[in-house]
Amino acid sequence: MKTVMTIMGLGCLLLWVGCQNQSASRPVRDATTTATVKAKLAADVRLDTLTNLDVTTENGNVSLNGTVESDELKRLSEETARGVSGVARVINNLQIAPKADTAKVEFIDSTGKQVGTASLTEESGGGVRFRLNLNKLPPGLHGLHVHETGVCTKPDFKSAGKHFNPEGKQHGAENPMGFHAGDLGNIEVGSDGTADVEVTAPQLTLKPGENSLIRPGGTAVIIHAGRDDQKSEPSGNSGKPIACGIIEKAPFTHSAIHTTR
Ligand code: ZN
Repeated sequence: MKTVMTIMGLGCLLLWVGCQNQSASRPVRDATTTATVKAKLAADVRLDTLTNLDVTTENGNVSLNGTVESDELKRLSEETARGVSGVARVINNLQIAPKADTAKVEFIDSTGKQVGTASLTEESGGGVRFRLNLNKLPPGLHGLHVHETGVCTKPDFKSAGKHFNPEGKQHGAENPMGFHAGDLGNIEVGSDGTADVEVTAPQLTLKPGENSLIRPGGTAVIIHAGRDDQKSEPSGNSGKPIACGIIEKAPFTHSAIHTTR
């Protein structure tokens, strides 16, 4: 009987300590506040580029941690959090880190089958780096070009128009009047039909401007059947297009907010 009483006593003590802890940090209310702040941030269209945001709440004090792309976003995030009921104070620890401009491409062949992707990144010193991961393509050298319209209608991909040429030049790096900003030379596909290659295009950008790949009407990347001689108009004798993909600004999702704590 004594043992039972002791266990009960210990149980009561633990319960009491537990209750004390619970009332000290008010976890239930704070979890709700954190969830509300996260939901508000996720719903705010002005904040649709937020990344790696971590929200915690303690006694009505909301801490914002992580990185945002600009001072303006840092300010707006704080303003949004402050507008949530139950928030006493916002501790704004957000760091400002401009995000690299990126874009992506998903290639299809003339039958509409998916044949790989490209990831595009703005280089810090200018230009755009294309990282291509291709498969199910004929082995050998293939001309690679950015075209002036972001439409890939199979089977001939004529919908993509001419080579992207905002500077009014002629085709090919070996052409004295060259080259088109969208001329990316040749890539080599291995005997297994795959290629994992990087190409950098110094004239191109993903930022706003004349040579931007992100423009009204879009742009596309085309892989040709044959080798580009890098001098013949209008397309370096590279044969017909065999694959096409639209360049799309990499979308940002709010999942980063929801997946943190
Ligand atoms: Zn060209």
